[in-house]
Amino acid sequence: MTKIIFEKSIDGMTGVSLTDENPALDFIRPEFLRKTDPVLPQVSELEAMRHFKELSDKNFCVESGFYPLGSCTMKYNPKVNEYLASLEGFANLHPLQSDDDAQGALELMYKLQEALKIITGMDAVTLQPSAGAHGELCGMMIVKHYFKVNGDAKRKKVVIPDSAHGTNPASAGMCGFEIVKVSSNEKGQVDVEHLKQIFEENKGEIAAIMMTNPNTLGIFEENILEISKIAHSHGALLYYDGANLNAIMGITTPRKMGFDIVHLNLHKTFATPHGGGGPGAGPVCVTENLKEFLPVPIVDIDRDFDGQKYVRKYNLKNTIGKIKEFQGNFGVLVKAYAYILMKGYTLKQASCDAVLNANYLKEKLKPYYDLPYDEPCMHEFVLSGDRQKADGVHTLEIAKRLMDYKFHPPTVYFPLIVSEAMMIEPTESENKQRLDEFAEVMIKIAQEVKENPQNVLSAPHCTPVKRVDETNAARHLDLRYKP
Ligand SMILES: *Cc1c(COP(=O)(O)O)cnc(C)c1O
Repeated sequence: MTKIIFEKSIDGMTGVSLTDENPALDFIRPEFLRKTDPVLPQVSELEAMRHFKELSDKNFCVESGFYPLGSCTMKYNPKVNEYLASLEGFANLHPLQSDDDAQGALELMYKLQEALKIITGMDAVTLQPSAGAHGELCGMMIVKHYFKVNGDAKRKKVVIPDSAHGTNPASAGMCGFEIVKVSSNEKGQVDVEHLKQIFEENKGEIAAIMMTNPNTLGIFEENILEISKIAHSHGALLYYDGANLNAIMGITTPRKMGFDIVHLNLHKTFATPHGGGGPGAGPVCVTENLKEFLPVPIVDIDRDFDGQKYVRKYNLKNTIGKIKEFQGNFGVLVKAYAYILMKGYTLKQASCDAVLNANYLKEKLKPYYDLPYDEPCMHEFVLSGDRQKADGVHTLEIAKRLMDYKFHPPTVYFPLIVSEAMMIEPTESENKQRLDEFAEVMIKIAQEVKENPQNVLSAPHCTPVKRVDETNAARHLDLRYKP
């Protein structure tokens, strides 16, 4: 096998020519000048440009094709939002500038908070957390502090369904809570009898239940009102993991379901870029009685001021403190607010189309793959590759084969309660033609498994990078340039 050469550096090559006579150097105080050269690849500007262009060509993104990565809501990120976030008044504003200097930015943040209140039904919002998991951490810190302030600190347990996303138990665990797992029933929903039993057996010890609705199977929890009644009657709080909000906007709200704390993933539901595309934002919304616990500052209207003035407010009585520098990822907030303005405050059409797309695909695929929970789904659904596994092909290989056909694979092996899981979330961005193409390819792969399994087992054949050692990559993450 030929060794792939990644090294582009050539000794003595340079992209810039800063000499000692360069006038730019006059502006830098001598103590800030480097004494030794940095250890960087030595390449010309053009070669550096080509390197990054080549990487971007190899990358797969929503702009290059269908990306049904379940639970991640890989919807289209409108480009006008990038333009708006890059406007000088937003992009070049210094976070330490006074409120008076930043009225436009503060107004945008205030109005975004108001919009998120309407969409979730909650009473107060922090925009600080930088991702969904960070929002969960913030929410769990609020739960902990709330019970401490109320003299009820013996509540040390958090109930989480067995279908939950891994970040839920991780966030609760980081706050020192013990996790109690509640089972799913034969309909893929929280087993209410088991939940009642848990609350009886742990009387006065449960601080909260963390749920997402629809759940990670893409199924709406029909008993959510009973569940919230049970939890509240035992003095516990309800935390809503908002990663699946794309299914319900403008139709119902977490508040109506009985939740007290909600995180949102602006980089999922609100169309801001994901992962390598930029940082995220995970605002947390709470009911009135928890408002005093939010991180500071929150953005408010100065009530004493004659006219409209926006201020950063720091004096929340029981605040958990700061969980992110300054205002959070402000550029992301601009993009999310632009998206809301574009779609209309309720975003209902997005949810309706997302649910329709998922049900359409589910019905097309269910003759060819196992569908463990055969019910109308919300914005996503979970297939099982058990039938294909019986023929010797695993879900992982089906996922790799999809890449040969220029489709991003769905989320695989999650949720954990479905064997050989494939979690498919088409989002509202896709049209019927794309969905049909994807279904055709999935059906074709199911046929290949029967007729020519070797071709699937050895996939991918057409990608720039072939099968990678994912475990090794995760265990021994190596991101630094070493000459
Ligand atoms: C994505 C996701 C999270 C975590 O959100 P991040 O923004 O990736 O930190 C939590 N729960 C569910 C169900 C998710 O899909």
